[in-house]
Amino acid sequence: MTTGHAQDAEQPETGITPGDKGAFRDVLSKDHARRGKPPVHLVDMTPDERIARAKDLGLPKFRVKQLANHYFGRLETESEAFTDLPAATRGDIVEAFFPPLIDEVTHQVADQGTTIKTLWRLFDGSHIESVLMRYPDRTTLCISSQVGCGMGCPFCATGKLGLTRNMSAGEILEQVRVAARMMRDGEVTGGPGRLSNIVFMGMGEPMGNYRSVLSAVRQISAMPPEGFGISARNITVSTVGVVPGIRKLAAEGIPVRLAVSLHAPSDALRDELVPMNKRFNTTQVLDAAHDYFLSSKRRVSIEYALMRGINDQAEHARLLAKRLNHYGDDWAHVNPIPLNPIEGSRWTASKPEDEQQFLDILHCAGITATLRDTRGSDIDGACGQLAAKTKEAFAA
Ligand code: SF4
Repeated sequence: MTTGHAQDAEQPETGITPGDKGAFRDVLSKDHARRGKPPVHLVDMTPDERIARAKDLGLPKFRVKQLANHYFGRLETESEAFTDLPAATRGDIVEAFFPPLIDEVTHQVADQGTTIKTLWRLFDGSHIESVLMRYPDRTTLCISSQVGCGMGCPFCATGKLGLTRNMSAGEILEQVRVAARMMRDGEVTGGPGRLSNIVFMGMGEPMGNYRSVLSAVRQISAMPPEGFGISARNITVSTVGVVPGIRKLAAEGIPVRLAVSLHAPSDALRDELVPMNKRFNTTQVLDAAHDYFLSSKRRVSIEYALMRGINDQAEHARLLAKRLNHYGDDWAHVNPIPLNPIEGSRWTASKPEDEQQFLDILHCAGITATLRDTRGSDIDGACGQLAAKTKEAFAA
């Protein structure tokens, strides 16, 4: 977790705050920090930097607004589209402001064309993924914020990759722009529509890349030409429980929804499932989540991957209910998620009757809980699996 100070710029943002480093360490990929930085994109620049870069190209200040309008308003980055800009400089403009940051490797379609999972290659050959899910009343894009993840949860495919690097705001926002354009242009089953919701639940721990994630959140929610105009209330930022990140996000005063991946109701069990718990335990995480609710007035989502025989029994549901009710009523919404297991792993999905029992116990205790939709589970929908497989294929 970064503190955002200048001296942190040289250190990788890894989700770790200063403190007892013995308690938790990021799992780093062998490629960690060996890559350069992604090319700088319009959205990575401050307003002054944009003006300075335009000046280098001999363009007056007002052109910067036109460029932002193309990007955020019309979702365009191709020079042919910039007909309101001098033809001679269009190529240079694209090079200076819109370097290609994500390149589709492959995509998989499921749920009659309403779920599209895309694997992207970044400038350094890294892979990340995003998933577009269209519902009757909304369209949600699940995006990645890091290449791999350093949190080391043993049941998770992305965790197996380790952390390679943080993504830039440009790389994060490009996932949004492309999806918004696909929706606008009717490329998703159901005809033209609007991308309405964003969830930071793809690869990575968003709080481990706080600066870029926050910059992306601001630019997703601002109105064109400053952003894509998707309401902050329709953005969800997830975390495995990086408490300083939760507190910092609360202090920003942006009404995004917070999702906390709890996965276990006790420290003994969570220490095993979520190594970060050794750094910030369940009490610290729930305290911070409840404080987030108090300051944002947004109900917090508690994500809970149900794993057969491990965390899905009646005792776990009862303890979870007790711990949440300790803070009062109606402040959290639990999303039990049927685990999409990694092949050959000992962590596997719960039995349907155990899922139902888990839900029933929460409901009886007055807690709202809905079994999370496992959209795309037939296309390797668990976080990180597509990238993990491709990585293996490339390595082979
Ligand atoms: S479950 Fe989330 S936090 Fe844990 S390793 Fe996977 S992506 Fe990272």
